[in-house]
Amino acid sequence: MICDVCGQDGARTKRVSRSYGKGEDMVVIDHIPVIACPNCGESYMTADTMHEVQRLKLHRRTLKALRLAPVISYV
Ligand SMILES: [Zn+2]
Repeated sequence: MICDVCGQDGARTKRVSRSYGKGEDMVVIDHIPVIACPNCGESYMTADTMHEVQRLKLHRRTLKALRLAPVISYV
């Protein structure tokens, strides 16, 4: 795949865990697809992925109300 940052071929999607917020409001989202480029070393999310992450972070409040585990899987 072509890297959006440097324009070279070789970028790949990898799945990462990211944590957002802190303390009581902290949420960990697993398996977020991040595009990583071995040429320039950048890793970034697509706009769609960032949008989905925002949605999952909001969803966290619902999960918290249900007392579920504070880890959300992206998939
Ligand atoms: Zn690159």
